[in-house]
Amino acid sequence: MQDDTVFAAELSWPQYHDRVRDGSVPILLPIGSMEQHGHHMPMHVDVLLPVEFGRRVASEIGALVAPPFTYGYKSHQKSGGGNHLPGTTSLDGGTLVAALRDVIKEFARHGVRQICLMNGHFENSWFIIEGVDLALRELRWDGIDGLKIVVLSYWDFVDKATIERLYPNGFTGWDLEHGGVLETSLMLALHPDLVRLDRAVDHEPASFPPYDVYPSKPEWTPASGTLSSPKEASKEKGEILLDVCVKGIVGALKPEFAR
Ligand code: ZN
Ligand code: MN
Repeated sequence: MQDDTVFAAELSWPQYHDRVRDGSVPILLPIGSMEQHGHHMPMHVDVLLPVEFGRRVASEIGALVAPPFTYGYKSHQKSGGGNHLPGTTSLDGGTLVAALRDVIKEFARHGVRQICLMNGHFENSWFIIEGVDLALRELRWDGIDGLKIVVLSYWDFVDKATIERLYPNGFTGWDLEHGGVLETSLMLALHPDLVRLDRAVDHEPASFPPYDVYPSKPEWTPASGTLSSPKEASKEKGEILLDVCVKGIVGALKPEFAR
């Protein structure tokens, strides 16, 4: 238990209650996945990154960071390598939606009126929105309104100029960034002890046909599990990304959560 922590679950319940009951303190909820991220990174990249964004943003806007969702929706072949890969451990969509709905309603019961869902795993996107929609609907049935929920994915705050600076040889899109330069650079800046760049597999960006097939075809995914090469990743790029994303998220949340 720590008095000055931004992590909600490190507080005692009276400390937490004091902070949130009047609705003035936003809750930031990181949502990740357990998913393979190639040979050079651990499987909790999609959790570690939004937790750290949450920690930095929370200290700037006076928010609390909730314990993250450590499992997410199934890895899609064209954005996460696919759910067939060993280690990748996913929830059914309905499970994720129901769990998110429950947690949002619990925070509302405590008095929280501002929540930011900070996504770290592309495939969660629509299920997050469904969880938000169901929670808001059920809260309205209970006569609770006035809740504002912001949904964001940190990579959407990387602007065009930064993309051109970080990808001088061309950018293939966020979906192919699974285990690539973006995530690896951020991990090098934040958790260098968890990255083994010497084990990274260099390969051409994955190329997929403009349709999906189920059951998926494992041979479509590069053998490494990454969808683009992490070889050009660096701590410096990670620090640029960190700066751009934290500033962008703070800039978005301050006016949205102004009271
Ligand atoms: Zn990831
Ligand atoms: Mn992911």
